[in-house]
Amino acid sequence: MPTFPNIKDLKHFEVVFFDLDNTLYAYDPAHKAALEATLIKFAYEHDIDMDTANNLYREARKVINHRLHGQAASHSRLLYFKEMIQALNHHTRFSDALQFEKIYWQHFLTEMQIFPEALKLIKQLSKRGIALGIITDLTTQIQLQKMKKLKLESYFKHLITSEEVGVEKPHSTIFYHALNLFDAKGETCAMIGDNTKTDQGAEQVGMQFFLV
Ligand SMILES: [Mg+2]
Repeated sequence: MPTFPNIKDLKHFEVVFFDLDNTLYAYDPAHKAALEATLIKFAYEHDIDMDTANNLYREARKVINHRLHGQAASHSRLLYFKEMIQALNHHTRFSDALQFEKIYWQHFLTEMQIFPEALKLIKQLSKRGIALGIITDLTTQIQLQKMKKLKLESYFKHLITSEEVGVEKPHSTIFYHALNLFDAKGETCAMIGDNTKTDQGAEQVGMQFFLV
């Protein structure tokens, strides 16, 4: 369980932004369970063993991450699974990538659980009338599903995704976009996240960064 800043350190801010993945819930267990379930199915359907499936996945992710670096689609499971099918030369089966993507996210969403400490802080901030936003890398479709699963919709005024803005954190554009939506100045806002490389980019626009 990550350690969150105290409400006392946050009460003077107008807006508090949160990162989503691995800040509000634990990413690794959800990803691990989802990937395993998907690769078991992939290995069975393409008649390969699990080691081969795992290697194919890692290689496919590397190719897509490299090609689409800095864009929301660099995290697209659909693209990873399509790339795996392509690596096997099973070209007539590209559309299978759709079902693997579905299996992956179904398992992921089932596994994910909000950190109780995060929910406590969100409720405290919300009670004090502090506006809340999420700034996250990835596609809007899946991030909205995660918000829904974690029952967070009623607390947050805006969800800002890298897909909507065209750049990922730590690019200052995504943080400026967030400030514009709230009509707020950076100095009056806080950003809470688990990643110093990406989330800490909030400091470029004057926000105070809190690492969890
Ligand atoms: Mg994160």
